[in-house]
Amino acid sequence: MSSIIPVNKRKLLLKKLLITLKKYENEVTDALYKDFKKSSFETFLTEFNYVVSDLKYAISNIEKWTKPKRVWPSIMTIPSSDFIYSEPYGRVLIIAPWNYPFQLAFSPLIAAISAGNTVVLKPSELSFQTSQIITKIVEEVFDVKEAVVVHGGPEFAQSLLEKKWDYIFFTGSVAVGKIVAQAAAKHLTPVTLELGGKNPCIIDEGANLEVAAKRIVWGKFVNAGQTCIAPDYILIQAKEKYDFIELVKKEIIVAYGENQEESKDFPRIISSKHWKRLSDLIEPSKVIFGGITIENDKYISPTLIDEPEMRSELMKDEIFGPILPIISYSTEHELQSIIHKFEKPLALYVFSNNKKFAEKMITEFSFGGGCVNDCMVHFANKRLPFGGVGNSGIGAYHGKLGFDTFSHKKTIVKRPNWGDNPIRYAPYNKKSNFIKKVISWLT
Ligand code: NAD
Repeated sequence: MSSIIPVNKRKLLLKKLLITLKKYENEVTDALYKDFKKSSFETFLTEFNYVVSDLKYAISNIEKWTKPKRVWPSIMTIPSSDFIYSEPYGRVLIIAPWNYPFQLAFSPLIAAISAGNTVVLKPSELSFQTSQIITKIVEEVFDVKEAVVVHGGPEFAQSLLEKKWDYIFFTGSVAVGKIVAQAAAKHLTPVTLELGGKNPCIIDEGANLEVAAKRIVWGKFVNAGQTCIAPDYILIQAKEKYDFIELVKKEIIVAYGENQEESKDFPRIISSKHWKRLSDLIEPSKVIFGGITIENDKYISPTLIDEPEMRSELMKDEIFGPILPIISYSTEHELQSIIHKFEKPLALYVFSNNKKFAEKMITEFSFGGGCVNDCMVHFANKRLPFGGVGNSGIGAYHGKLGFDTFSHKKTIVKRPNWGDNPIRYAPYNKKSNFIKKVISWLT
């Protein structure tokens, strides 16, 4: 497989991909519905349109991105023309998860192709129908030498990881992320790891509770909570907790009706195994809303849990489903000690009318990214990097940064045969302290 796609070919391929995606929009929507009853509007908003807009952005900018970028010379290089060339890494392996199976496969693929790499894409075995339509689209657009989709579960993915790649881009769980990092280390292959975490959602005293409830209900229950940046648990001042809970219940009913099982907008859990894991996390005595689980439909209703034990299974790992624990705190110290119990999360949200408090939360904790007075929407701005820190990931992408992620930045200094700066040459004993001072001042 040739491992680089020439610049002129990339734009053509991306344009062809755009036409083909549009051709298969209905099939994409059907596939996601079959996989976990994701509604057509949610698929449009969080998968299809996201990818299409990513693609259009890459098509409009690819010429600018691929041009060598000229930078100012330094005192040691002058006279010179100094450049950063973006070089494709070569053969890229992309491993995608099931939760946004279309978007999280195509978005890195678009970035990798824009940067000129060839791609082997392994979508998740759990979102089978979506993986089929992804294959159909990729086969129609790309030559196998440019991009190919391969299928299989963990064992197959591990056999792929044994090969030598020029770059590995992985989206998935922390546990598998560690396996990927180990495999990559064998060949010193650079990686991006887009992982997960337990994302706190802080509600400060005096925050607008109506706005918070509306936005949190959307952020937590879209995709039935199977979102890496969904708020994992709420931290709220004890005296405001019950008002907030009533508002959240109201918003759930506004969004999904009195019987959420009947809502056409509320997806199902991806597999029986994940359904079982989530069902086991619900402790009936702590349920203050929902808690309905239907095995043969892989359904879990939007569920609110009041004051879970901090040592319970629910508060151990990322929940990744429609279960929202609500925990009260009374002092800032208490708030900090709860958040610091966990590894660095992928996202943190703070609802507050106090700018100082919000700023303090932003700087106090380390996390991938987040919002003030909202949740999840930071994902939607292409000008913002998206990625984790510590256990929630390594590296970032989106927009131009996606192109940069998949490019080696090659440094080039072009010098003429004249204009030598004598100060760098030996013998050094004649260089005075004055020259040293000048150098340290100019560099
Ligand atoms: P997962 O780690 O189980 O699987 C992800 C991919 O890895 C799949 O393609 C799977 O086939 C493959 N895989 C599974 N076991 C493997 C192994 N032993 N060796 C190599 N590959 C293996 O994750 P998932 O259940 O598909 O997705 C959910 C997780 O992904 C959550 O933790 C979530 O937070 C995270 N996630 C992160 C982001 C992000 O952008 N940071 C986005 C979506 C999901």
